[in-house]
Amino acid sequence: MWYRLAMKYFDAHCHIQFPQYDEDRTEVIAGMGAASIGGIVVGVDLDSTKKAIELVQDRPSLFASVGLHPNSAEDFLQTGFDPYIELARNSKVVAIGECGLDNYRPGDVEAAKPLQREVFLKHVELAVRTQKPLMIHSRPAKGTQDAYSDLIDILASAKREHGDALTGDIHFFVGGIEEARKLIELDFTLSYTAVLTFARDYDEVVRFAPLSHLITETDSPYVAPAPNRGKRNDPRAIPAIVDAIAGIRNEDSEVVRVNVLQNVQRVFKLSPDIFE
Ligand SMILES: [Zn+2]
Repeated sequence: MWYRLAMKYFDAHCHIQFPQYDEDRTEVIAGMGAASIGGIVVGVDLDSTKKAIELVQDRPSLFASVGLHPNSAEDFLQTGFDPYIELARNSKVVAIGECGLDNYRPGDVEAAKPLQREVFLKHVELAVRTQKPLMIHSRPAKGTQDAYSDLIDILASAKREHGDALTGDIHFFVGGIEEARKLIELDFTLSYTAVLTFARDYDEVVRFAPLSHLITETDSPYVAPAPNRGKRNDPRAIPAIVDAIAGIRNEDSEVVRVNVLQNVQRVFKLSPDIFE
């Protein structure tokens, strides 16, 4: 079959397999195609991971990520990790996650920590074994950076043990300059959502990070850009996020767009011929 796929934008983290898209998923995906937006459909548990893989199977500009979200870590006690290991073999799976540490949502954070950590370490091991990058969710308790300090310790020791090949993306990065600096030193990228279109809290870090370590994502269905805040989001918001990054950094949108594509190609080991 002859066709040339020209991907211009990339949504590194979306959940278009979620039921919020059951009514119009085909249109959303067609809209992504029309705007030359590719992306990674991210699993948060076994069911959503299977759906993600199914959805991307015959779509050249879509990929999947296999993982168990830290806020669903208890699932692990029922299913174990073997089903994820099995699913991660699929060639359309380009990342392991979302996985990580969440000190924001659990009612009893201290009680939630040991299992979250155990489940996260399973993902790290799987990423090492499959040589696929991690898709990390890390959310500190309000007013702290606690989840990032634990994350940085875990990643640094994993790299000491397994070598520099271990890499990945920190999804929805909300850390400060210090955390950004350490994560970038470990060669992890930081990804930003349309939160940049309406909140100014991240501008300093967006300016600090080198373009080689910034990636765009929507986290759809969440975080719709201004002026659609509160509504269901979808990956078609990516060009607005590229523009927001360019505006904050006082750089050309086209330069940001091209760098983001190079970054996703490198981190997720995507074939260069799917890009424009
Ligand atoms: Zn997510």
